[in-house]
Amino acid sequence: MAPRTLRRCIFCGNEEDDGRPMLPLPENFHVCFPCIESLNRLMFSCSPKGNIAARRVLRLISETHPELVPQSEEDNSPMEILTRQQDELPTPEQLHKMLDAYVIGQERAKKTLCVAVYNHYLRLRQKESDDGTEIEKSNILMAGSTGSGKTLLARTLARILDVPFCIVDATTLTEAGYVGEDVENVVLRLLQAANMNVAKAERGIIYVDEIDKIGRKTQNVSITRDVSGEGVQQALLKIVEGTECNIPPKGGRKHPDENYIRVNTENILFICGGAFVGLEDIIRKRLGSSTLGFASIEEGRDTKEYTEEEALSKALPEDFFLFGMIPELVGRLPIFAPLTTLTEDQLVELLTKPKNALVKQYSKLLSMSGVKLVIEDAALRAMAKQAIERGTGARALRSIFENLMLDIMYHAPSDKRVTEVILTEDAVLGKGKPVLHRAKKAS
Ligand code: ADP
Repeated sequence: MAPRTLRRCIFCGNEEDDGRPMLPLPENFHVCFPCIESLNRLMFSCSPKGNIAARRVLRLISETHPELVPQSEEDNSPMEILTRQQDELPTPEQLHKMLDAYVIGQERAKKTLCVAVYNHYLRLRQKESDDGTEIEKSNILMAGSTGSGKTLLARTLARILDVPFCIVDATTLTEAGYVGEDVENVVLRLLQAANMNVAKAERGIIYVDEIDKIGRKTQNVSITRDVSGEGVQQALLKIVEGTECNIPPKGGRKHPDENYIRVNTENILFICGGAFVGLEDIIRKRLGSSTLGFASIEEGRDTKEYTEEEALSKALPEDFFLFGMIPELVGRLPIFAPLTTLTEDQLVELLTKPKNALVKQYSKLLSMSGVKLVIEDAALRAMAKQAIERGTGARALRSIFENLMLDIMYHAPSDKRVTEVILTEDAVLGKGKPVLHRAKKAS
């Protein structure tokens, strides 16, 4: 008689005979029930890697045994768990380290954001063990030039925390009743990012971009949009400070017959970002000209030349009023995270260091066709210099690099003899072509 093959759990390696019931998975794999429980727990932990693996297996299990996988994430949303378990909440320092893998520089903004986000989720936990202390929501205002990494920071934080995230452009919003997007659609976007799970959405992060472009009319005249920026700011103010919104599930204009979805925005973290071009000059002027400015008196250096970073670190709410932002909205964004323009060195790092650095991605793609990509240091520097000249930071860098790579990616895979491509400084400067090395023909 052929020996009976023992069924083993693919995770813990224990056998069915140990008294553990086993559940068959496709491809003749099995998983034991204690491991299913652990997977369920892992799925709601904050480790993105753990989440992905756990989710895949749980999806397989739920296909045949849905009762073993919690269907309602309302009670078990990642943030519910996150806010209950101290151990699960990454500390600001841990968050900072995780951000470092994707975002170059911007140390001050990273530190500020990590502390603010950590406090935000502590606040949610504190609400559960209500002892009467009221911790206010720490919505964030980010200022930094185009392509300095504002969106990237917000998006990466949301990814690390595994919370729903959406980006909205403030300039597309209008006051209710005008042509354009109702401010409540901002919340609909987040709801969609949370797969319409209201509990999850209520703890997500909304990034409102171009916040500096919806200034009051007196500061910012637009002939195409007859809706005052102030009205939009007032409408935004309500959802930023926390309100119950009635969201039309399909978006667009509200219709009296529609069934609305109620979403409370009290625990949604808002990060508003804008370029605030010239902000540092406004601050410098205030610091320099005002003999009553606190900073000036304290440090007694009215005439000091403040660097961009130093000036931004001294921003006060009134500096933002000059961009037409209403005091109430600035007041609801109490955390200020300034970003600085990326330097040449940082732009070079940006191409090569992050986990998803463009050079790494293209090297990987080419290596799949058997081609090695070499980029000269001088070529990296030349690209960084060009990006600085264009003035759109990392955005320009990306397009410069991708344009250069286009030809290489087009031709190299078709020529089976190409083994190496060298992107030279001359190629970047338009004085030459990338150098292709080919394998010698077999004689
Ligand atoms: P912003 O919102 O400040 O205009 P983004 O965050 O959208 O800029 O950045 C534009 C592009 O440049 C993205 O592809 C982003 O990955 C990259 N980028 C910008 N800043 C950084 C940075 N500090 N580190 C790494 N990549 C960055």
